[in-house]
Amino acid sequence: MNNLQAKQKAITALADIYINPTSVISYKSAGFVLIVSESIEEALKITEQLGDKFTPHYLLQNKTGVDKNNTTYGNLITVNGYLGSFEITAMVNNKIENLMVNKEGKYFDIVIDLVSTINIAPVPPFGYYGLNKNGENVEIFAEINQLIGILDKPKFFNLDATLCVHNRNKTELCQRCIDSCPADAISSNGDSVDVNPNLCHGCGGCSSACPTGAISYAYPTEEDTSKKLYVLVGSYLKNSGKQVKLLFHTADNEALLPELESNTLPLAQEEIGSLGLETFLYAFCLGVENIIVHCTDEPAQTIQVLHKQINLTHKLLHSLGYQSQNAFVQLITDISQALDSDITPLSDTIGLIELSNKRNRIFAMIDFLYTNKQTQTPLSHCDFSVSDDAYFGEVIINKELCTLCMACTSVCPPKALTSGNIDKPIVNFQESLCVQCGLCVKSCPEEAMQLNSRLIFDNQQRTSQKILNADQPFRCVDCGKVFGSNQVIQKMMEKLKNHSMFADGKINNLAKCEDCRVKALF
Ligand code: SF4
Ligand code: SF4
Repeated sequence: MNNLQAKQKAITALADIYINPTSVISYKSAGFVLIVSESIEEALKITEQLGDKFTPHYLLQNKTGVDKNNTTYGNLITVNGYLGSFEITAMVNNKIENLMVNKEGKYFDIVIDLVSTINIAPVPPFGYYGLNKNGENVEIFAEINQLIGILDKPKFFNLDATLCVHNRNKTELCQRCIDSCPADAISSNGDSVDVNPNLCHGCGGCSSACPTGAISYAYPTEEDTSKKLYVLVGSYLKNSGKQVKLLFHTADNEALLPELESNTLPLAQEEIGSLGLETFLYAFCLGVENIIVHCTDEPAQTIQVLHKQINLTHKLLHSLGYQSQNAFVQLITDISQALDSDITPLSDTIGLIELSNKRNRIFAMIDFLYTNKQTQTPLSHCDFSVSDDAYFGEVIINKELCTLCMACTSVCPPKALTSGNIDKPIVNFQESLCVQCGLCVKSCPEEAMQLNSRLIFDNQQRTSQKILNADQPFRCVDCGKVFGSNQVIQKMMEKLKNHSMFADGKINNLAKCEDCRVKALF
């Protein structure tokens, strides 16, 4: 088969893939619309474009014409909520008022804002429209006129709060998802985060940025995206397709795409922001030579996350010995400007990865690339800088300072750091589990720890327990019972030896266990 025939076969094969469903988020709209405008004249122009089932209310800045029913004069202050449930405050007669549809407290279903003076998320809530009063809004009104009755959308994310390292021990550690969400749908709930499914637009940046996999994309899941990639690329190569390129685009933008080369396989995504390191790496492991991510008007936060994920991908591939003049992954608005990557494609490709944990999936690909060693000079690991926001690495303990107090092992959220027992004072570390949250560093009273962001390629080194520090147990000088580590007791005695409370030989009480210390007092 030639490339074009192989491509057609591959695209046909995609149709048979079962995509796991997600749950549904429902909105209920009775069609009460608040139109925020400078004047009634502007507001009436909007009203003309609404269908009969909608009931307009007006919040007008100026009194310019004859009063209409349902009119309030004032200035919009806040809009909170979403389609079917907008809580509105406005400054009316120098007083802040809650605007509602009726005295029974019905919230507005839709807000059309021609003034746009309020702070609203870059991707506003469903049902809020900040319109340009002079602009062409035909398509938008076609959309608004559908917003009546019960409306469903997929739930785009899954959240496993047990994996989240947002805030532990009253220490803020991670808010990548909050920062990456252009819809302001994610907020802190103290220890972990909440995602408001009604505000979530499924941009996907949160799941790409999350170091632990606590937030993952649900529609499709990463496993389903992998299945699609595996079938699409696998079928193309099996049918003698050559030099496979992948084009990720949103289904909405399909019409904007030019005619594609015969070796470019298109794969529509709900949102390109859901793409990240694991998808890019997997595509490479399947034999893809070039990835083009077609972006159009994605919010700045989404683009920023994508750039970081692409950067991580390139750094890893580079350290594994896969270099290229032109980037392997290119994020681009005009796909005719994409440059062919000259990366060496894999001859031996990976199978379907069915692991559900994000980190384990990435490690499985790293293991595949490292053990297959299809390049001559892979490094032993990839170093990251702080700005890379990578979530792999080691912690280094300064043994001179560490007293084995175990403050670090008691707080480490993913249990990358663990302690021995009372008879064996020891700090163990498993690098594959460390998400570089930094809680251990912040918790160490001796300032003995530091982070080193890297991804070590050797599976054995990454997954085995390494002893970072160890000591002899300290035995009570009276009864011989073990009650601490040698270094902790010695250091404490050294620190307190000149303290007045421990004068006249009382310092030796510190070398006694609790029971013997009590006995010594009486
Ligand atoms: S990015 Fe992940 S780990 Fe970090 S706060 Fe969000 S859910 Fe928690
Ligand atoms: S070892 Fe330190 S940086 Fe790594 S996950 Fe544990 S507490 Fe966080």
